[in-house]
Amino acid sequence: MLKTDKLHILRRTTQLLFILLIVVAPVFDILRFDSDTKSLIFMGSEWDLGLKENFYININPSFGNASHIAWQFFLNAILPWLGILAIFPLLGVITGRFFCGWFCPEGALFELFDSLTVKIFGRRSIFGKNPNDPPGPSKNRIPYILIALLCMVIIPLFFGIALTGYFVNPKTIWSQIINWEFTFGVKAGIIGVSIYILISSLIVRHTLCKYVCSAGLMQMLFGCASPISLRIQTDAAKLSSCTDCKKCEKVCFMNVKPRLPKRDINCVNCGECIQACNNELGKSNGLFSFSKIKLPIPPDEKAVDFVLNYEQCIKGAPCEKTCR
Ligand code: SF4
Ligand code: SF4
Repeated sequence: MLKTDKLHILRRTTQLLFILLIVVAPVFDILRFDSDTKSLIFMGSEWDLGLKENFYININPSFGNASHIAWQFFLNAILPWLGILAIFPLLGVITGRFFCGWFCPEGALFELFDSLTVKIFGRRSIFGKNPNDPPGPSKNRIPYILIALLCMVIIPLFFGIALTGYFVNPKTIWSQIINWEFTFGVKAGIIGVSIYILISSLIVRHTLCKYVCSAGLMQMLFGCASPISLRIQTDAAKLSSCTDCKKCEKVCFMNVKPRLPKRDINCVNCGECIQACNNELGKSNGLFSFSKIKLPIPPDEKAVDFVLNYEQCIKGAPCEKTCR
């Protein structure tokens, strides 16, 4: 079992490693489209439908040849696409939205911009305060403003160059950058991706994860339908020891209220609430843990009362009706 104080570091490591993979994949021909040869490069070689010899040079209309072509097409074109399409539903069934919380490069960027906005404005969003916002702003905001400005320039450009490498050979891109002479495709790729990264990181952030990202939506839908998907489990038997410090809510960048027994579809299984509660109540006394099954709420009167009161409380019922 993971020690919870290692969860945060481990998550940052997986996020950074995945970003590294995304960046190096086209450089080392792990995956990219070569616009010069109009072919897909996968694991160092050109992705081949296996049809060239039969299809282009010597078309033989016999049944044997036709079935060979159909089989090659199924193996090399349809099957890989089905595999790619199945990745996120499968992940959802087994791990819920774990990929979003632990690997997604955009999610990592949004968290970085969230934390800088908290240090500068005292809230996660640049538009307004949210009850879940962590404490802030920092007493000395100048360094954070400088870091934010640097991030706003360097990060979009970095991803603009890296992601354009999926469509234009990275060597071509870098030689154009060094000579400061750009073809239309390279210029459009770098500028387009940079603008998208800047706008999504500054303005949209986790709203994109909740309502737009198709990979996130597939994990969410299949994760919710799956009885065995990974989830954050609240131990209702421990609810009466809750100090109501709200640290579990303030660390949640997806605005989930993890104490509620009902599973929230926006939870990305990041585990930050597990760490926050263990820091408050002591290791292994925290209310939350990763789980593959839904635990039944025990017949503990105090715990059941707490859940019911808490549900009413966050719906805005007057305090005298919810707290005793
Ligand atoms: S509820 Fe916990 S695990 Fe889920 S997104 Fe929020 S902090 Fe992460
Ligand atoms: S972090 Fe733990 S103790 Fe604090 S409010 Fe959340 S559940 Fe209660």
